[in-house]
Amino acid sequence: MFNALVVSQGEGGVSAAVERLEAARLPDLPVQVAVEYTTINYKDGLVVTGAGGLVKTYPHVPGIDFAGTVLSSADARYQVGDRVVLTGWRVGELHWGGCAQRASVQGDWLVPLPAGLSTRQAMIIGTAGFTAMLALEALEAHGLTPSAGEVLVTGAAGGVGSIAIALLAKAGYHVVASTGRVSEEGYLRSLGATSVIDRSAFADPHKRPLEAERWAACIDSVGGNTLARVLTQMKYGGAVAAVGLAGGARLEHSVIPFLLRGVSLLGIDSVMCPTAKRVSAWARLARDLSPTLLEAMALPASLADVPHLAAEILKGQVRGRVLVDVNA
Ligand code: NDP
Repeated sequence: MFNALVVSQGEGGVSAAVERLEAARLPDLPVQVAVEYTTINYKDGLVVTGAGGLVKTYPHVPGIDFAGTVLSSADARYQVGDRVVLTGWRVGELHWGGCAQRASVQGDWLVPLPAGLSTRQAMIIGTAGFTAMLALEALEAHGLTPSAGEVLVTGAAGGVGSIAIALLAKAGYHVVASTGRVSEEGYLRSLGATSVIDRSAFADPHKRPLEAERWAACIDSVGGNTLARVLTQMKYGGAVAAVGLAGGARLEHSVIPFLLRGVSLLGIDSVMCPTAKRVSAWARLARDLSPTLLEAMALPASLADVPHLAAEILKGQVRGRVLVDVNA
């Protein structure tokens, strides 16, 4: 038997509660993991509240990421006792996920936990932090260096934003944090932001196709009007890593910044990211993120806390990263 957060669909809609399940309820997949930690990402908010229509079959166990220890394995790459991390592959959406003490998964979905990282730290990072690293690597592959100028991070006090700031600062960038919560300025500066601006600066759609050049690059979790406005302010040859849609999925924009300033819009996907790229991104996350900063971002929680925190993350009310101890 194991504890799991189970999302069910009834006449009144979707509801979630912690239940005791028999191990036989787990899907028949080659690697069984004793989950230690999971997290709450924006997509978990959609799954747990039923907002996104992402789940096709109920009852469902959410949790798009987890870290834990292998309990049994029919996959030669993984042995009992190995510590592993999982993000993406539509686990927690189409497949049962990490909001449980046990998970049954494909070996292809796992990454060995890199040396120097605990399962707790791996899930403070979670999908949000892994995605922030993919965004930074995409910008660097585009040619970004610290001497290029200011890098903007939108949705700064959220999960992706918090870790993006820490990673950029560690790599020597001048980071400007855009947030709706200017009361969090102290937190954002403690992560490495050199300045903080109110996100209302980007709330209105661009009035002209080009504004004064300011940003060498941007890691954008917000999308919508914010992304459209940021594009008009990019420096010549600059790039935006488009990560999220917390402010809207629709992008209405002229192509002028692409044509007259050579601006690039780089799409970032963490879900189907190839394994080799995952392994190298996790190795760099283990190397570059300070344990003290990770703890400063963490909001500890239990499985029972997930339903209300899932609703809060969709309202942009969660700061940093929720760390769910499934055994708490
Ligand atoms: P969080 O809720 O933790 O962070 C989102 C932040 O965006 C909020 O904290 C808030 O920051 C800001 N925000 C929220 N609502 C609005 C709004 N209406 N207008 C402007 N800003 C807003 O979520 P995550 O960090 O987990 O995820 C961020 C986004 O990235 C989501 O859209 C998610 O789906 C996406 N994502 C994509 C991935 C990929 O593979 N491409 C992987 C992981 C996440 P503040 O208060 O500082 O303004």
